[in-house]
Amino acid sequence: MSESAHDAASNFTGRRAQMVRNQLQARGITDAAVLQAMATVPRELFIQPRYAEWAYDDTPVPTLAKQTVSQPYVIAHMFSLLALQPTDRVLEVGTGSGYAAAVLSCIAAEVYTVERHQKLVEFARQKLTEGGFVNVWVKQGDGTLGWPEKSPYDAIVVAAGGPFVPASLKQQLALGGRLVMPVGAEQRRQHLVVVKHSEPDRFITIQETSVAFVPLIGAEGWPG
Ligand code: SAM
Repeated sequence: MSESAHDAASNFTGRRAQMVRNQLQARGITDAAVLQAMATVPRELFIQPRYAEWAYDDTPVPTLAKQTVSQPYVIAHMFSLLALQPTDRVLEVGTGSGYAAAVLSCIAAEVYTVERHQKLVEFARQKLTEGGFVNVWVKQGDGTLGWPEKSPYDAIVVAAGGPFVPASLKQQLALGGRLVMPVGAEQRRQHLVVVKHSEPDRFITIQETSVAFVPLIGAEGWPG
């Protein structure tokens, strides 16, 4: 590694540790697995080179296809709400850059992630391979319909905002499973909603904090 590449790498390592301390722990994130994963995954790998300086900023970062890499705190908060276990099989809707899927792959056993934009599917696959995240499978498609062949899931996370929780996703949630998703009547303002599959055909829904995600476009989301 050249001297300047080495400086850049150690700079990112320092900023990652600061991000965990100042943006996550300082705001009450205590889930040890989430903190450990976010202290490990190199977020800069998933950021477009022109936005590299923003890799550890406390904001979403633009990526391909006019989409975003979600704000670190929001990812940590959503994953904490899922109370993830090392044996969990997880579905993510909205792969985007692949960063959040990489974080999930450090916490759970298997991660299935669906993205509607082919460009992002290719980008995420390449970056996940480069980073050595082997327990993640990415497919192109309408994630509002889930990935039924790989269901049931112990946890489902939806990384885009829809008008309601898709029935298809509830059907693919294992008994005892948890789902977290931004839901709102407006396309860019939502509340996080947590759904627990408590008993056969019984779901408990809790409304959480307000958020602003890009829209979930699909058969059980917003029209494209
Ligand atoms: N998890 C991502 C990351 O770590 O970079 C951030 C996701 S970004 C906020 C939301 C993503 O959801 C976008 O890439 C968008 O294209 C995708 N999306 C929107 N509707 C979708 C759908 N029906 N199925 C799959 N992906 C969808």
